[in-house]
Amino acid sequence: MSDATITGGCACSAVRYTSTKTKPIFEVKCHCTQCQKATGSAFAAIMVLPKADITVEGDLTFHSYTAPNGNVVSHGFCPICGSPVHNKNTGYPDNIYIQAGSLDDTSQFNPVKAIFTDEAAHWDNLDPKLN
Ligand SMILES: [Zn+2]
Ligand SMILES: [Zn+2]
Repeated sequence: MSDATITGGCACSAVRYTSTKTKPIFEVKCHCTQCQKATGSAFAAIMVLPKADITVEGDLTFHSYTAPNGNVVSHGFCPICGSPVHNKNTGYPDNIYIQAGSLDDTSQFNPVKAIFTDEAAHWDNLDPKLN
């Protein structure tokens, strides 16, 4: 499925996105406490795509915070169903950070790295291949 278009959206389909790019820039599992809060889970599964290649239909609400490195990270979620859909980061304005659980085909996500594992919940299962 690697040559398939990347599409996805929130649980209620009010927000939908399509990427013309089929190859992510980076794929990562982020275990930081902010991602735990924003997803309500153990980590954020993030697929990084070029912003220029993605079309988002529907309006997200963003919750922003300043990361320790000074970048402002904005977690975008559907204001109707609450699903996390994608994030933005002022340090990388040309990228968009898709929450991989929102993909129509979640098999398109293949994480290559895990970050902020020192903040992981003790009940999280860290993948030794990624650390
Ligand atoms: Zn929704
Ligand atoms: Zn994080």
